[in-house]
Amino acid sequence: MDGTIQRKKAAPDIRNWKPQTRAVRAGQVRSNFDETSEALFLTSGYAYNSAEEAEATFKGESTHFQYSRFGNPTVSMFENRLAALEGAEACRATSTGMAAVFYSLLALLKTGDRIVAARQLFGSCHYIINELLPKYGIRGEFVDGGDLAQWEKALSTPANAVLFESPSNPMLDIVDIQAVCDLAHKAGATVVLDNAFATPMLQRPLEFGADVVVHSATKYIDGQGRTLGGAILGSRAFIIDKLQPIIRNTGPALSPFNAWVLVKGMETLGLRIDRHCANARKVADALATHPKIGRVLYPGRPDHPQHQLAAKQMSNFGGVVTFDIRGGKHATFDALNRLKLVDISNNLGDAKSMVTHPATTTHMRIGAEERAKLGIGDGTVRISVGLEDADDIVGDLVQALGS
Ligand SMILES: *Cc1c(COP(=O)(O)O)cnc(C)c1O
Repeated sequence: MDGTIQRKKAAPDIRNWKPQTRAVRAGQVRSNFDETSEALFLTSGYAYNSAEEAEATFKGESTHFQYSRFGNPTVSMFENRLAALEGAEACRATSTGMAAVFYSLLALLKTGDRIVAARQLFGSCHYIINELLPKYGIRGEFVDGGDLAQWEKALSTPANAVLFESPSNPMLDIVDIQAVCDLAHKAGATVVLDNAFATPMLQRPLEFGADVVVHSATKYIDGQGRTLGGAILGSRAFIIDKLQPIIRNTGPALSPFNAWVLVKGMETLGLRIDRHCANARKVADALATHPKIGRVLYPGRPDHPQHQLAAKQMSNFGGVVTFDIRGGKHATFDALNRLKLVDISNNLGDAKSMVTHPATTTHMRIGAEERAKLGIGDGTVRISVGLEDADDIVGDLVQALGS
C-alpha cells in the first residue's frame, strides 16, 4: 500500500446534480491515494517532472500547478464547489470577504469611472467607496437600495459598476435584483452583488441578472466561526481574463488550510441554513409580540416591507433578525448584558447565536446622520440566530428583556 496506483474515474457531470449534492460533491479532485475526504494540500510550491514541464507551465500550456499564490488544489476544490452552487462559470477565492469586494471593484474600475452603490452596505465598503476609490479618481454615489426610483435616477447617467447586498446588513433591506440589474446594464455598469447573508442555498443572483457575486465565506459558508475567507464569482471572461492577473500578481490568496475548512463547511451548508432559517423565524415571531420590542425586521414575516420581493428572489429568508428594544441605549445595553446563552459579538453566521448593537460597533464610524438614514437607532439590535434549540434562544432573549 504505497499509494502508487494510478486510477482515475471519469469526472461526473455536475449539471445533473441538485444544490445539496453539489454542496457535498462538486469540485472534489481525488489524489492518487483515492481519499474519500477532500485532501488538504498545505504546500506553497509544486515540483515539475522536467524542465520542459516547467517551461510549458510558465507559458500557460500546461495545467500543472505553479505556486499557491496562483492556485492550489484545495483552494481550487473550494472555488469549483462554490461556483457549482452559484451557477457561475468561474470563481477565485480570497483571504477575506472584504478582499473579495475590493478586488472585484479593482478589476472593474479605473480613473474617471463611477460606481453607484446601495448605502445599506457592510461597514468597510463605505471606506472603500468614500475614501479609497476617490484617491484614484473613481467617484461613488449612494442610493437607498430598496428604492427603485433612486436607482433609476442615479443610473440615468452612465456608470461602470453597481454594488449592493440583499438582504443587507444590518437592516435586512431587500433590493430588487432583476430590476436594478436591468437599470445598471442600460447605464453600462457591471453589477456586483454581495450574497453573504443569503448564500447560494437561498438566492442565486446570477439567475436574476447579476454579473459578479462576492462572498464573505467567513459567515455561513464556514458557519462555525473558525476562519476568514472570501470569493468572487462570475463569467470566465471576467474571472479569468480580468480578475485573475490582478489577484495572482498582488496576492490576496486564501490559505489552503482555510479553503479546506470552507470546503468541508459547504457540505453541511444546506442543513445549517435550513435550521438557521427555522430558528430565526421562531425568534422573529416571539420578539414581534413582546411588549419591550418596538419593531422586528425579518424578510420572512409578512410585516417586512419587502416580504413579497424577498419571497420572489429567495427560497427562504436567512438567519438574521433585527429589532428595536424600547427605552434607548441604556435599556438596550441592560438587556444585552443580561443574556446568558447568546453572545455579544459583531460576527454572524456562526452556529452560536450572537447579538450586536450596530450603532456602537459595526456602524459607529459612519456617524449619526448616516445611521439615521439607514434606520439604525440606539435601540437597534441585530441577532444572528444560531443552531441551538430555538426554545433556548427565545428563552434567553425573553429573560434578558425582562417583564
Ligand atoms: C462580513 C461581511 C463582509 C466582510 O467579510 P470579511 O470576511 O469579514 O472580510 C462583507 N459583506 C458582508 C455582507 C458581510 O457580512
